Amino acid sequence: MNKDIHLVFHNRGLRSYIEVDLCAECPRQDNKGCCGHYSPMFYPGDFVYLFQQRPELIDKILGLDNVTILDSSVTVNKTIDGDSYHCHFHRTEGGCLLEQDERESICRHFVCPGIDWESEPALVHWKIFFNKLFEYEIEINNSIAEIMRQKQLSLRDAAGRQEFFAQLAQAFEEVAANPPDFMQKVPPDESAVINRSISYGKDWPL
Ligand code: SF4
Ligand code: SF4
Repeated sequence: MNKDIHLVFHNRGLRSYIEVDLCAECPRQDNKGCCGHYSPMFYPGDFVYLFQQRPELIDKILGLDNVTILDSSVTVNKTIDGDSYHCHFHRTEGGCLLEQDERESICRHFVCPGIDWESEPALVHWKIFFNKLFEYEIEINNSIAEIMRQKQLSLRDAAGRQEFFAQLAQAFEEVAANPPDFMQKVPPDESAVINRSISYGKDWPL
């Protein structure tokens, strides 16, 4: 069976994301789709945004039981659920509990290979954008992590976290002061419709 899939690409700089209508009725038919296989990892760029916009969410993330806290990143570990896993933020009704801008990079950018929008020639500008954005985020996160390491500040130090986040925001201002040109090469929003053959259950590629 073929189906029209509606995508909306949003250029929000470091908080850019892709919306896909098929996710609401994911062909995996397990109420989790790709979210049943992933553990979100929050990096410095995410924490700076959350610190400035949703500080209460940082407290929630750091207060969870099943997290791995490293010097400048936190993984919210998935838990075993049947024959796959379960992301802490996923709910059967409504999907992800987080708003798009609150999610980490993979959760904002990932679209499953079954949809494969990257192979559409008309969307090549978005493919270039998200590839460059992914590299830019890594570069920024690595630079901020290095600055924090030199200042001997770590997320592992629970008592020093207020200072950590204040310094993190300052480090972000230093390394991300001049957004690269590629961020201006796509519009703020663009919709697209692509047609794909749909398979169901585990036949649908993740
Ligand atoms: S597997 Fe594909 S369709 Fe299903 S939720 Fe993930 S991105 Fe959406
Ligand atoms: S954080 Fe949200 S989008 Fe990311 S894996 Fe979990 S439920 Fe899915």
